[in-house]
Amino acid sequence: NTTGRLGGLNPDNGGANDTKNLRVKLVLLGDSGVGKSCIVLRFVRGQFDPTSKVTVGASFLCQTIALQDSTTVKFEIWDTAGQERYAALAPLYYRGAAVAVVVYDITSPESFAKAQYWVKELQKHGSPDIVMALVGNKADLHEKREVSVQDGIDYAEKNGMFFIETSAKTADNINQLFEEIAKRLPRPSTS
Ligand code: GDP
Repeated sequence: NTTGRLGGLNPDNGGANDTKNLRVKLVLLGDSGVGKSCIVLRFVRGQFDPTSKVTVGASFLCQTIALQDSTTVKFEIWDTAGQERYAALAPLYYRGAAVAVVVYDITSPESFAKAQYWVKELQKHGSPDIVMALVGNKADLHEKREVSVQDGIDYAEKNGMFFIETSAKTADNINQLFEEIAKRLPRPSTS
């Protein structure tokens, strides 16, 4: 099932955001293996399928959610698909992104350190009003936890980020992650 898969072009062209229908570019950043692709596939397709990788290249997955105030938010979700190794490409990747989701694995302090590197990069090169979320994934692996919840909260707070722990495997907090992001998006002015 490839519903929602796009080849880099916007089918509903125009891209104009009105006050009720927002369309936003969301980029995922974080070490390889932290679960970025699994988070996207869980959110978009409701599946946990570690073998299914988002294709490399200029493609993204879309998912629209409706908020209580009847606003809809269409996320264009860009996964690095391995490009995290090419740091020089990163500014190209997150240019124009309204949202950055920085992911680490709660069992890996190295991935938490790498997440902090990406946050600094975004602060240097990202759009000044970008909405940033810090995500501690693999929360189901609590017996192997090496990054405390408090460390995540503290770092996010210091950097003006929204923080949440998720599990792409059990689906815990995956929808909540995207709903919370949607609520934090700046709304286009009505004038
Ligand atoms: P990416 O390189 O960041 O895109 O990571 P992937 O999405 O490919 O996931 C890497 C590995 O982590 C896969 O083997 C997944 O099965 C596993 N994984 C991803 N999310 C979770 C999770 O929430 N819990 C557990 N236990 N494993 C996960």
